[in-house]
Amino acid sequence: AASFLGCSVEESGDKATSEGKQPENERIEKLIGQMTVEEKVGQLNFYVGDLFNTGPTVRTTESDKFDELIKQGKLTGLFNVHGAAYTKRLQQIAVEESRLGIPLLFGADVIHGFKTVFPIPLASAASWDMEAIEKAEKIAAIESTAAGITFNFAPMVDISRDPRWGRMAEGAGEDPYLGSQVAMARVRGFQGESLSDAQTMAACVKHFAAYGAPEGGRDYNTVDMSERSLRETYLPPYKAGIDAGAATIMTSFNELNGVPASGNAFLLRDILRGEWGFKGMVVSDWQSINEMVSHGNVANVAEAASMALKAGVDMDMMGDAYLIEIPRLIEEGKLEEKHLDAAVRNVLKLKFDLGLFDDPYRYSDTVREAQDIRAKEHLEVARDVARKSIVMLKNEGQLLPLNKDAGTIAVIGPLADNHADMNGTWSFFGEAQHPVTFLKGIQDAVGPNTKVISAEGCNLYDDNRDKIANAVTVARSADVVVMVVGESAVMNGEAGSRSNIQLPGIQLDLMKAVAETGKPVVAVVMSGRAMDLSWLDENIAAILEVWTLGSESGHAAADVLFGDYNPSGKLPVTFPRNVGQVPIYYNHKNTGRPYEGDYSEPKSERVYKSKYRDVQNTPLYPFGHGLSYSTFEYSEIQLSADTIGFDQTLKASVKVTNTGPYDGEEVVQLYIRDLVGSVTRPVKELKGFKKLMIKNGETKEVEFEITSEDLAFYTIDMSHKAEPGAFQLFIGSSSEDVKQSGFYLKH
Ligand code: BGC
Repeated sequence: AASFLGCSVEESGDKATSEGKQPENERIEKLIGQMTVEEKVGQLNFYVGDLFNTGPTVRTTESDKFDELIKQGKLTGLFNVHGAAYTKRLQQIAVEESRLGIPLLFGADVIHGFKTVFPIPLASAASWDMEAIEKAEKIAAIESTAAGITFNFAPMVDISRDPRWGRMAEGAGEDPYLGSQVAMARVRGFQGESLSDAQTMAACVKHFAAYGAPEGGRDYNTVDMSERSLRETYLPPYKAGIDAGAATIMTSFNELNGVPASGNAFLLRDILRGEWGFKGMVVSDWQSINEMVSHGNVANVAEAASMALKAGVDMDMMGDAYLIEIPRLIEEGKLEEKHLDAAVRNVLKLKFDLGLFDDPYRYSDTVREAQDIRAKEHLEVARDVARKSIVMLKNEGQLLPLNKDAGTIAVIGPLADNHADMNGTWSFFGEAQHPVTFLKGIQDAVGPNTKVISAEGCNLYDDNRDKIANAVTVARSADVVVMVVGESAVMNGEAGSRSNIQLPGIQLDLMKAVAETGKPVVAVVMSGRAMDLSWLDENIAAILEVWTLGSESGHAAADVLFGDYNPSGKLPVTFPRNVGQVPIYYNHKNTGRPYEGDYSEPKSERVYKSKYRDVQNTPLYPFGHGLSYSTFEYSEIQLSADTIGFDQTLKASVKVTNTGPYDGEEVVQLYIRDLVGSVTRPVKELKGFKKLMIKNGETKEVEFEITSEDLAFYTIDMSHKAEPGAFQLFIGSSSEDVKQSGFYLKH
């Protein structure tokens, strides 16, 4: 037989890419039958592009470092490499020069865009626009696949209620319903209709499970929670991603209730493969199998490897645990080869499904790479998603939108004209020179008679005050000041936890100094988390939360600042009044002594009743909050019935009127509260939302359908079902700003 490339086949085995016609399963079993134990573990062994670097590194250069390992069949693939020519060269070695010719898998962290950088995931979640998110991920896949990448380590779907945790930036925030919608949209975007399409890549839902709930917000820390909380709050987005067809899932670094996730049979066998029927491939996180030794549930790496493999971790990222330990364990009779075969089967299936056995070079396309990457249409989508991600937190006296002929605009702050931090965390491919800064975006937008001046004001972190005086002088000579402040790219993301969630360094002092000039000030806040913006809320007229917007940062912000785009983003996370309130989230439980005041009493009284002596219980900005340049008026809620049975559907509708003065989009949100349960229920839970464009003066009716499935929860005996009784139903513009109604569910 001739191999795929028409090269001669070695006597020792058929080339795997040569048998196009046989059904996939047969081809996989035949291949497994031909493999040595060493070749099998090779298929589970996944390295980052530069082996000798401890941090994730991107390689595009012609390097021969991996050639020998590939020839020997000791690598299943490489990650965080890219470049059509480079990946093709490596693929050629695998296909032509290894004994069985099994193609390589190229992975990468394409977390928010490849070379066209989209907003960080927390930002795009704030758009509440699933179409826009899906479109962005489709572009990420088009660009990545052209450069050879077939396996994306995204979406990260970890629910986070703790803004101290830096990886809040990479997820969709605090809510399981919104998080699930976003997870599905992102999987659809990456994988499209078919995995074998040359412009789609395998998605990887991560990090399984509950990685977003570390104690104290410290990355990698212990997670200890009830099974009910796990299932109700943390698991739904992983499940949604799997249901949307995600081909792979990644384990997490944390332990869950005493067992590290990478050796956790309850998570990986019972829930993932058992209850959810997941048929795809499980990859460990970076050395997370080996790390079980430090966690302390195994004595050595051999035990860790055995435990992980039996629990169902198919691929070992960076650990060498499988490569080194498994052959020995099998030889010594301590591990059955069937466990190894099961893992190899899942890896080979992924490679088949990606079409790699039929055409191993389909993803490394120099022509597409030159044409598609950072294409004009891609940047247009990046700008659109970015402006949709911006949340207007406050706009006192309608300071915004600014007039393009405003006279003199001062753009001040350490992030005002900063290229390096615009791409944000997890942007290996983005290239620092590309993004449009805020200063540039504003310069591009203003009229010919407007003067734009700027000052850095201070550095991002240190306490050097030398530049403040100049910033104050610049502010004094302006008619309006736009201050761009917040976090740099490294202040959030992996290992980017913070114990203080205010503006870093002396940025708040800079703001105070500028505010004292008496000039009108707009704050543009960049962050990868919910921040403590209490001082800004009290002292600055207009605040835009822009997160981290990527390639088109400055253009997108200018679109909102000058009203070319009417802001429509809504918070996917609660903003606390201070870090001491954390964890604070909208779907909390009641207590036996809830505070039900309306905050009209004197502050001291409120604080007393709130139980904290120094701060109220309420957040600064609630989940779902976000202003528009228009106002939207909600009618009372209309219900199709006041009682429904288990097999019936309730229709709830409101009329929403844009009372002007601009056309704009509104995110209409539906929340439900189960008043009495066999276990206590949250005071509100998001159950639906619709984002719609409403023209100035127009009224639109919005209808939601509610079934008993939407009311189900983990009851006292842990069965997942609805219980009959009374429910409250809320529809509104945020989790706090709602109209209220109610209904009964009867047997
Ligand atoms: C992160 C993963 C990432 C992997 C590979 C790990 O440190 O936790 O999210 O995919 O590195 O870069």
